[in-house]
Amino acid sequence: MEMREKCKGMLLVLSGPSGVGKGTLAKRLLQEDGSFAFSVSVTTRAPRPGERDGVDYFFVTEEEFQRMVRAGELLEYAAVHTAHYGTPRAAVEERIRQGQNVLLDIDVQGGLQVMRCMPDCVSVFILPPSYTALVRRLAGRGTETREAIEKRMRNAPGEIACMPSYEYTVINDDLETAWRTLHGIVEAEKRAVSRCLPEMGDTVEEALSLLDE
Ligand code: ADP
Ligand code: 5GP
Repeated sequence: MEMREKCKGMLLVLSGPSGVGKGTLAKRLLQEDGSFAFSVSVTTRAPRPGERDGVDYFFVTEEEFQRMVRAGELLEYAAVHTAHYGTPRAAVEERIRQGQNVLLDIDVQGGLQVMRCMPDCVSVFILPPSYTALVRRLAGRGTETREAIEKRMRNAPGEIACMPSYEYTVINDDLETAWRTLHGIVEAEKRAVSRCLPEMGDTVEEALSLLDE
């Protein structure tokens, strides 16, 4: 007599300026919620120390990237900062078909494309508490040169200008608070009737028969 549920997979889009903490929040979600799979993007940028091919990104040449674009293998793609990035289509579509949840950590250009072609995606824009906090985080991460940090900072206002196209915002000031907010959004969206319709596992007649026992 258990409740049955027919659930569709959720496509969760996380965007926000570089250094805001998307990767940190994404990692936490993947650790704490086993229903999510990370969509590994393709990129033409060079790997950072410690990044693994096929785990953090698929690192590809410009030629391979352009081939994937021409072949329609990317759900969305964009030039971000100084490289190309894209989301492999097949893996996302297959997982969603199987009812799994998929997490995309992508820039606003890609986020807008996904909202157009997958309108039932859940879109969350992560904001820093200030530009000062953002530059501190980028510098503190220690993965970019000064020029790269400047480029990312100068791109940030344009990215933040796209925020009204997203459904939710999360301010990543205190990390625990930001995580709780994101987690709350995800849990609420899992219960959206468009995504999940519980079915009663028994009937009223079966229930009423208990009164005669
Ligand atoms: P993104 O993926 O958006 O570029 P990261 O997740 O790599 O950003 O975070 C950038 C840096 O900021 C990392 O060093 C991370 O540890 C740090 N960070 C993330 N969230 C916070 C926070 N709420 N307060 C302080 N530092 C943070
Ligand atoms: P990074 O080089 O710091 O890993 O990522 C730079 C930016 O590219 C981030 O804003 C990140 O969200 C974005 N990005 C990563 N993968 C993709 C992708 O597949 N598509 C798009 N459009 N942006 C991506």
